[in-house]
Formats: sequence, C-alpha cells, structure tokens
Amino acid sequence: MTECVFCKIVSGEIPSEGVYKDELVTAFRDINPAAPTHILIVPNKHIAAVSELSEEDEQLMGHLFTVAQKLAVKEGISQSGYRLIINNGPDANQVVFHLHLHLLGGQKMRYPMG
Ligand code: AMP
Ligand code: ZN
Repeated sequence: MTECVFCKIVSGEIPSEGVYKDELVTAFRDINPAAPTHILIVPNKHIAAVSELSEEDEQLMGHLFTVAQKLAVKEGISQSGYRLIINNGPDANQVVFHLHLHLLGGQKMRYPMG
C-alpha cells in the first residue's frame, strides 16, 4: 500500500504532527482542521474503509475509540464534548481510503456537519 498517504504517515515517510502512537494505531493532527481540536486516529495496518472491516478487526476498532477518549482528555475537551466521525464511501465524502476516526472538539458543533 505504498500509495496510501496515511500508510506513509504511519511509517514516517510523510511528516505529520503526531500526537500518539502504539503498536496498533497512530494519531496525528488533521492538516486542514475543521475545529480547534481535529485529530485523526488510524490503524497502523491498511484498512481502506469500514466497509472493508472483518471480525478480526473488532479489537482494533475498539482500541481506536479508547485512544480517542484518552486524547480528548489530553486535549482538554473531555468535559466540553467532542465528536467522533468515520466517513465511509462517496456519499459520506470519504477522501482518504485508509480508515480513520476523526476526533473533533473545542467548539460548539452543529449536526450534521457540512
Ligand atoms: P475523510 O473525508 O474522512 O477521508 O477525511 C480525510 C481527512 O484527512 C481530511 O480531513 C484531510 O484534511 C485529512 N488529511 C489528508 N491528508 C492529510 C495529511 N497528509 N496529514 C493530515 N491530515 C490529512
Ligand atoms: Zn493505508
């Protein structure tokens, strides 16, 4: 998956403003933030989208959420609130086909966005 921008961020081939990394996931700031806190949390292994998940990824997906929860505390938005978004496919405007969880916060948000 050498053409995948998020695989390249995971490997360090493309620079990013990293905020967290472990054996399963990498988190970094979105290059075009839509809120004061806008972090992307991605699996280290390439999964194109939620539609490509398999049951063996269940633990990994749970881990994405607990990392998001901890990063929200670290960012100081745990009490004020935050939104977690995963876009899947064209109607959701998924642009990067490496699964990622958006962590958005630091301002009052309307629903839905965009
Ligand atoms: P999505 O619509 O869910 O696929 O969103 C992709 C997100 O990735 C967008 O919010 C982009 O701003 C963000 N993005 C794309 N390239 C980079 C990059 N090199 N570093 C950080 N964020 C990126
Ligand atoms: Zn990838």
